[in-house]
Amino acid sequence: PAIELDHVVKEYVSHGEVVRAVKGVSLAIAEGEFFSLLGPSGCGKTTSMRMIAGFEDPTQGIVRLHGEDVTNVPPNKRDINMVFQSYALFPHMNVWDNVAFGLKRKKVPDAEIKRRVGEILEVVDLVGREKRRPKEMSGGQQQRVALARALVNRPRALLLDEPLGALDLKLRQAMQIELKRIQREVGITFVYVTHDQSEALTMSDRIAVMNDGLVEQLADPREIYERPASKFVAGFIGTSNLLSGTVQQITGDTAVLALGVSDRILVPADGALAPGATVDLTVRPEKIKIARDRPEGDLSVVRGTVSEVVYLGTYNSYVVALGDGAEITVFEQNAHDSTITAERGDTVWLSWQPWHSY
Ligand code: ADP
Ligand code: MG
Repeated sequence: PAIELDHVVKEYVSHGEVVRAVKGVSLAIAEGEFFSLLGPSGCGKTTSMRMIAGFEDPTQGIVRLHGEDVTNVPPNKRDINMVFQSYALFPHMNVWDNVAFGLKRKKVPDAEIKRRVGEILEVVDLVGREKRRPKEMSGGQQQRVALARALVNRPRALLLDEPLGALDLKLRQAMQIELKRIQREVGITFVYVTHDQSEALTMSDRIAVMNDGLVEQLADPREIYERPASKFVAGFIGTSNLLSGTVQQITGDTAVLALGVSDRILVPADGALAPGATVDLTVRPEKIKIARDRPEGDLSVVRGTVSEVVYLGTYNSYVVALGDGAEITVFEQNAHDSTITAERGDTVWLSWQPWHSY
C-alpha cells in the first residue's frame, strides 16, 4: 500500500485535559487510489491526515509510506503534498510564479520548470491565465492553482483537507468531477478529507467513515450506501429509516419481526437471533414500495397512514405513520405519468425485499 496507518492514536493535552482526537485507526490506502476520510466535524479526520503528512506525531502507532516506517520522518522528507481549503497562494505572484515557486526553490533547471509548469497548467485547465494574480480569479480557479502548485512537485501522494469547502454548491459539484478527472490523469494517490457525504460518494474509490476518533466502516461507496456497517453510518450517509422490532419466529434463514401495529418484517437471521429479541434495522427510503393494496410475496410488509407528501421534482417523498409513533419515509420515483400513489390521510401498504433491511 501507498499509505498505512497502523493502530494510530493521537492525544492532545488542552487546558490540562487529555483529548483523544484519534483513538486507534488502522487503514491501508492503495497506490493510485482516490481515498476519502468522511465524517462529522471533530471526528478526527484532519488529525489523521496531519499524521500522514507528518505535521503531527502519533501518540501511539505507526505511519508507513510505501512500506517504509515514516512515523518519525519530518513532513518535507515524506514525498507527499497537502492542499488546504484556504489555498494559501502567494497574493503578489501571478499563477505561473505561484506554481513554479517550489521548483525554483529546489533549483530545478529553467527549461524543466517551463515544461513542468506548462504541463500541469494544462492538466488543471488554466492555460491562458498564467499572468493572473489570485485575487483576479474565481474561487474555483484559485483552488486549481493550489492544486497545480502541489502537483507540479510530482508527489507520490496528495492530501486534500476539505479543499472545496469555500465554494458554492454548483462550483463545488463541478470541481468534484474535475478533481476526479485530474486524479485519473496524473495517476497519483489522493487522500481526501470531507464531511460531505455526497462529495465522498461521487469521487472516491474507497471511503473510511469516521466517528469519534474511530473508523466505523471502510469500503467502496456502493457498499457503504447499500450495506452500512453501523447505525451511525446508515444515519450519516443518505437518508435512512431506523426501525426497531421484536423477533416473533425464525423460519430457515429468515427472522419475522413484529413492529408496532405493522404486518411483518423479514430480516436475514444469522443464528444469533432468538424469538423475543429486539432488532434494530435500517431501510433506505428508495428501496420501499408504496401501494394502495396489500402486496403479495415474501416481502417485508407494513401498513400505515400517510402523514405527509412532498413533491420533489424527480421523486415524491412520503412520510407514513405506523400508528405506534414510528414513521417511515418513502421515496417514489416520479414516473412518466406523474401520478401520485397516495394523498395525506390515505391508508397505504409499504413493502421491501428482506435483503434491504440490515
Ligand atoms: P475533524 O477534522 O474531523 O473536524 P479534527 O481532527 O480537527 O477533526 O479534531 C478532532 C478532535 O481533536 C476535536 O475534538 C478537536 O477539538 C481536537 N483537536 C484537534 N486539534 C487539536 C489541538 N491542536 N489541540 C487540542 N485538541 C485538538
Ligand atoms: Mg478538519
